[in-house]
Amino acid sequence: MPERWTPDSWRKKPVQQVPDFPDLAALTAVEKQLSTFPPLVFAGEARSLKRQLARVAAGECFLLQGGDCAESFAEHGANNIRDFFRVFLQMAVVLTYAAASPVVKVGRIAGQFAKPRSSPTETQGGIALPSYRGDIVNDNEFTAAGRVPDPRRQLEAYRQSAATLNLLRAFAQGGYANLASVHQWMLGFVKDSPQSRRYMELADRISEALGFMQACGLDLERHPELRGTELYTSHEALLLGYEEALTRVDSTSGDWYCTSGHMLWIGDRTRQLDHAHVEYCRGIKNPIGLKCGPSMKADDLMRLIEVLDPDNEPGRLTLICRMGADRVGELLTPLVRAVKREKRNVIWSCDPMHANTISSASGFKTRPFDRILQEVKGFFAVHAAEGTIAGGVHLEMTGKNVTECTGGARAISDEDLNSRYHTFCDPRLNAEQSIDLAFLLAELLKK
Ligand code: PEP
Ligand code: MN
Repeated sequence: MPERWTPDSWRKKPVQQVPDFPDLAALTAVEKQLSTFPPLVFAGEARSLKRQLARVAAGECFLLQGGDCAESFAEHGANNIRDFFRVFLQMAVVLTYAAASPVVKVGRIAGQFAKPRSSPTETQGGIALPSYRGDIVNDNEFTAAGRVPDPRRQLEAYRQSAATLNLLRAFAQGGYANLASVHQWMLGFVKDSPQSRRYMELADRISEALGFMQACGLDLERHPELRGTELYTSHEALLLGYEEALTRVDSTSGDWYCTSGHMLWIGDRTRQLDHAHVEYCRGIKNPIGLKCGPSMKADDLMRLIEVLDPDNEPGRLTLICRMGADRVGELLTPLVRAVKREKRNVIWSCDPMHANTISSASGFKTRPFDRILQEVKGFFAVHAAEGTIAGGVHLEMTGKNVTECTGGARAISDEDLNSRYHTFCDPRLNAEQSIDLAFLLAELLKK
């Protein structure tokens, strides 16, 4: 029998990736203050996402999850949020129309601030300082003062998440996402790229189809699915004090929900069975993601599934696999077989980003676009061979025209990386690369 879960039961467990806060009294005061703040999302919304994800598990919908590796305070602004929303919407339209598959949209947004690091320190020019752990913890600037973890940053992360969510809700339901605007979403987007031409052709076909339905007498304005959309939020549940402060009892069901985002995931570095992050996540009723990297073995996975999803509830657990382009077949197949044997209702999602990171000759952390495509193809191939469902993708991407991942239609080279390399952490797909990937996914889904 597992011990009783409470929002703070994780505090009794071993824990990885904890910032070294110098002032524990200040940390406690911030957590206390956060626990009085209104929830950012509602339990009913998390339940509705779970129902959508149950459809993904059944192969009726596709999960599109993506956004920044790390949101930052400096880049917070309406234009960035709009550009992300727009490219995400375009990708979803490509998948919905070209692959005839409904899409569940989940942003890595409005809370994706805390970062796990492979080393607690970082050395530059012979000087070692604590690693940057995301804007919710410390400053990216390489100074001794900036790198000191400051709990007040959690209040700023809450504020930014609330403002971001507010704008996303307005975009989703306030008219911007109306399918009749499918052409307008192109405005401001790089013109004359192969992706924009391909997208425009698809938008023409959608407009034609809408015109046809209207001519047949259908009043499109009366269909909320066409007038707006739903976008859910997600982030890594890493900074557990912050998550605990936003964990609330849902008055309608009496269950605990984390109200900092609709879906939370456990990172590949913090997924130890008897440790704090798994303990915290097992008790909240939100949909949960679990990153599965190359070291994940089938036995460990089955034990984690038992703890995180004891009731085998469809939509509860998404396995976000990040094995690497070369090894996805070899490493994913045993996991898929074990899960299938035990008849576990999980969602299989592919993160083709995190195991394909390299250092470029020009010194930047990058990801070659063709390796990303290769891992996605390998992921689909495993599921086709095993008769299981390739349910979704998990991407690091932005709506901006950055140069962080090499390759793609514009053949971004190592030398190009420094021209618009803006990420606070890992390299992201830019808008064109994201649309390109959506067309490839549509092809794979049609098969
Ligand atoms: C991430 O998603 O940014 C991340 C750190 O992933 P992982 O836990 O898979 O390394
Ligand atoms: Mn990342």
